[in-house]
Amino acid sequence: MNLQNMARDCVRALTPYQSARRIGGHGDVWLNANEFPRATSYQLTQQTLNRYPECQPPMLLAAYAAYAGVRVDQLLVSRGADESIELLIRAFCEPGKDAVLYCPPTYGMYGVSAETFGVTRRIVSSTSNWQLDLPAIEAALNETTPRIKVVYVCHPNNPTGNLLAHDDLRRLLQVTAGKALVVIDEAYIDFCADMSMAPWLGVFSHLVILRTLSKAFALAGLRCGFTIAHPEVVALLLKVIAPYPIPVPVADIALQALSGDGLQRVKRNIAEVIDNRQWLQQALSPCLCVDRVSPSESNWLLVRFTDAERVFQTLSAQGIVARDQRRQPGLDGCFRITVGTREECERVRQVLGKI
Ligand code: PMP
Repeated sequence: MNLQNMARDCVRALTPYQSARRIGGHGDVWLNANEFPRATSYQLTQQTLNRYPECQPPMLLAAYAAYAGVRVDQLLVSRGADESIELLIRAFCEPGKDAVLYCPPTYGMYGVSAETFGVTRRIVSSTSNWQLDLPAIEAALNETTPRIKVVYVCHPNNPTGNLLAHDDLRRLLQVTAGKALVVIDEAYIDFCADMSMAPWLGVFSHLVILRTLSKAFALAGLRCGFTIAHPEVVALLLKVIAPYPIPVPVADIALQALSGDGLQRVKRNIAEVIDNRQWLQQALSPCLCVDRVSPSESNWLLVRFTDAERVFQTLSAQGIVARDQRRQPGLDGCFRITVGTREECERVRQVLGKI
């Protein structure tokens, strides 16, 4: 029996997302997945694991709604923001007929999730300064086959680190009205919280915002993310989500992270990351092997090197694992280096300073 032939065509053709864990690497300084560098220890308070959990744990929704300044009926909790990227496609895109649009260089899962479900990927590269190419996006929205149903934008954008201009986002929301959802992926917005588009949810019913506890909350291993949207969008996503997506221990720990103490810790995490980012930016800029350190609003730096292959070999030999971005459009010679502890930042500077 040929199991390969039994699989769906789009799955056979699919190159799966190359996550940091799948790519792997060797070393003791892990700066390839935009994680927070230190773990907080938690104790489980809920022991009733014989029972299924609530599909959407009400206390967790209430806690995140208070944190984000939104209503509980505008909120969905899922297995990381990644699950929500997929749920949106499953709820809104007809395979073979509809398309999603996104703007590389950007996060890879928008394309991979679309491909998995046989939904067309409409790619409109960002401009040379990594902003939205609005005329090209508008032209794509006017095409009828395939019809664009979801536009994903990342704010701040992974891997370039920049925010998108608010005026451009407003224009994007205006030109998509009545046609497509606009999903603003705010996975890293806690590092620049004033720039969130959440206040615009009341104005645009087709605006969807993605959030996660994986970054500033230092809980990438927990797998907990949130979607903020119009209650009707939330209700549609709830039709396609798994029956029990949030395990009891996940809700338990997420609630602790969203408590008063937890939020104080997140504040300190963010301040530490920003301080270390500024230090690393200044430390790397004068290095001879560095062509450019892009300004970042997030917890990493995108660095263009003059001899990227040599840098890659040297970092690997020294046990520093960074994320290679050289295959992304327009990112020749670039690596994404997560901001780690100050000691980890010093290791990076020490190694790169010698090249
Ligand atoms: N969006 C972006 C831009 C990301 O970088 C990531 C993490 N790699 C995600 C979403 C997914 O986050 P989560 O861990 O919540 O699934």
